[in-house]
Amino acid sequence: MGYNPAVPIERPTQRPGRGESREIAELKRLREDHPEIASAIDLQIALIDLQRRVQARVPMPWVEADPEWLKRQHALGRPLLGFKDIPLDWTDLRLMFRQTADILRRFDTIADPDYAAIQVISRSGNALEPLVIKWYESAACRGTTDAASQHEEAAAVPGPSASDAVPPVDPDTLEQLLLLSMKPFLERCAEVVQQRTDFSTWTQAYCPLCGGEPEFSVITPAAERLLICSRCAGRWRFHPLACPFCGNTDRTQITSFASRDGRYRIYACNVCMRYLKAYDGRSATRPLMMAVDTVATLPLDAAAMQRGYRG
Ligand SMILES: [Zn+2]
Ligand SMILES: [Zn+2]
Repeated sequence: MGYNPAVPIERPTQRPGRGESREIAELKRLREDHPEIASAIDLQIALIDLQRRVQARVPMPWVEADPEWLKRQHALGRPLLGFKDIPLDWTDLRLMFRQTADILRRFDTIADPDYAAIQVISRSGNALEPLVIKWYESAACRGTTDAASQHEEAAAVPGPSASDAVPPVDPDTLEQLLLLSMKPFLERCAEVVQQRTDFSTWTQAYCPLCGGEPEFSVITPAAERLLICSRCAGRWRFHPLACPFCGNTDRTQITSFASRDGRYRIYACNVCMRYLKAYDGRSATRPLMMAVDTVATLPLDAAAMQRGYRG
């Protein structure tokens, strides 16, 4: 039996060539209602446009997972996708890296020295590759599992030599840029693999596909909770209340509050002070659309941060 979440999740980027996508229409509607976040919405539309163009060219991934092997991997908490499984085209990745930086700059969300450093990295023949692999392998879980042998290929990649030293970039900026640049490849890969793989035996708080942290969640009509990966948008069922960042299950230590329209909720943990947003599918009129809902919840992020929590 395949994994079949009760709440369908709109997979926006898989329909290239159909004109304006539903998510862009939703974003434009959101901009009319919330002019105060118009700039964030326009940035999102520009990013979606770039991602769709590249994603249309990403080939089908070739990942075959024997169900028994997969169950053992799940028992060990090992995510399925190794770096080599991602259908990555370095020319397209370079293009994503450069053009995403251009978009961030256009919207004043990247500092000038960082932008200059990124130009150097994207023009250098071999500066980007080790950064991407390091980023992929550094997901929350990967450093702590004993799956090192699975990832020998990463260890074998040499860091940049002194002759092509990578100029320093603010770590958060670099993280965001790599995440956005890898999105078309990782999402395409996850979308295909998720359709034919059973993740129902996965109990970890990190993504069963790529090992990434959750970025969002969905409450299903049956009051189950699905977590959505920040890197590949893969989704998996998780404890309805436990904090996915520190494992706290004491509900008196979880603060929860909803947006005014009741569409979204925040679950904030008073132990590790991190929070996760949720789309409440129990009363929803449409499926979750990550590209829309992550932006529509910016005011909720602000409210959570005001109370001292971090995302
Ligand atoms: Zn993932
Ligand atoms: Zn916590």
